[in-house]
Amino acid sequence: MAQTGVLVISVEPDSLAFEGGIRAGDTLLEINGEPVLDQLSYQFLITQRDLTDLTFRRPGGARATATVENGGDGIGVDLAQDEVKVCKQNCVFCFVLQMPKGFRKSLYLKDEDIRLSFLYGHFSTLSSSNDAELDRIVRERLSPIHVSVHATDPVVRVKVVGNPKEGDILRKIDRLLLGGVDIHTQVVLVPGLNDGEVWARTVRELWERRAFQTEGPWAGKGGVLSLSCVPVGLTRHREGLPEIPDVDPGFARDWAARWMPEVRRCTRENGGEPWLLLADEWFTRGQMEVPGRDFYSQSWAQLENGVGLVRKFLEHSRRFLHRPKAKGFSGRRVLVLTGASFAPVLNRTLAQLNRESGGQLRAVAARNNAFGETVTVAGLLCGQDLAYAAHADRQAHGGDPRWVDAVVVPSASLRTHTGPTDQYVLPGQEATPSTQFLDDMTLAELEKELGVPVVPGGENLSQLLDHLQASDRFHTAGMNLPQGAYNP
Ligand code: SF4
Repeated sequence: MAQTGVLVISVEPDSLAFEGGIRAGDTLLEINGEPVLDQLSYQFLITQRDLTDLTFRRPGGARATATVENGGDGIGVDLAQDEVKVCKQNCVFCFVLQMPKGFRKSLYLKDEDIRLSFLYGHFSTLSSSNDAELDRIVRERLSPIHVSVHATDPVVRVKVVGNPKEGDILRKIDRLLLGGVDIHTQVVLVPGLNDGEVWARTVRELWERRAFQTEGPWAGKGGVLSLSCVPVGLTRHREGLPEIPDVDPGFARDWAARWMPEVRRCTRENGGEPWLLLADEWFTRGQMEVPGRDFYSQSWAQLENGVGLVRKFLEHSRRFLHRPKAKGFSGRRVLVLTGASFAPVLNRTLAQLNRESGGQLRAVAARNNAFGETVTVAGLLCGQDLAYAAHADRQAHGGDPRWVDAVVVPSASLRTHTGPTDQYVLPGQEATPSTQFLDDMTLAELEKELGVPVVPGGENLSQLLDHLQASDRFHTAGMNLPQGAYNP
């Protein structure tokens, strides 16, 4: 690891750290003789013993030590934010390389950090993880982690990740598994590159390493908990990048039809828990119904990777529609903006909701002008895309400035980064919800532009209603709150 110690930002008065002589500006070097690599490492090491030896460096360079009786708890220090690591790959489908120009700088950072993989389920190709870091993952029991495999065939993997040194992913995976670390894996599938026999080999070699085996080299060790397959996503900004085919509706339909029986076979042989996972996009792009609940893991594994989001939403809606709370939508005229892939499913659900509740909710697909029409997911819609779609909808409804009571935007579009950089928050700390879209437009600005309340949709209909009701309260005359002050 490159970091040597972690800077102490502040020390709580009367804390164990203060009593031990640690002050803001010192650098925490070692705990019980083990190097403190980052915040995660601190959290692991500080809980190991009741009596903890600390080594730190003063701003002038002098080393000092202290022993505190902390009983396995924190010692009252705030440590500097960790630097996020940069990946060493050049994947043919890298989203950062396909970004339009003109967005803020942090969006162009190719970050890849195993700590974020452990904390948030972000996928890492392990390119920035050398053997020392792999051993650290084992030592600190950072399990499970999430690894982008793409292909176990070394020649093909090099083609996919664009790095001649990163072909042998199984070597790294095995080092982790044999150390007891469990791994969720994914493949981003590119037609003609890592599909066909290459994909079949990937499935086979990862299946051999699946978790909870009682025989063979991985018995009693770590295991591969799941393998998801996600179709490649291309934007219209691919100047200077290799030409690769997109996954069109026909390919998506054929792929889903070919691999759904394999998904079910793996589930049966895995004791009923799904192991091979197909991302929702196979079904939405193929204009197919998403499969039933039993197709997805009991714990919704890889939900953040787009596996089962639609089914989870539908399951919740099915129960919610008949609950008394659904009546809260009665009489509401609401425009719900979303990505083109989810709009048809959402519209069917809203039609049912309207029948049950007497509401008037409509889903409209916002076109992604920034990334191109091929990008149909809600999370990559920009503020300007949503504003454009809302204006167009108002014009289509006669131009009345109060044509709806509220506009709903996808919660996933309200974030500050396409990747994890701004989200590195450790357990116990609170992540600040963002009110800013990818293009820097804020929720308040969109609301001002549209002249009606704008709220994030949340994860399901119940949350959507909560947000609308909270917005009602904020916008009640006399409360004197600024437009957009509502921030769930
Ligand atoms: S897709 Fe991820 S791992 Fe690949 S080059 Fe881009 S940031 Fe790096």
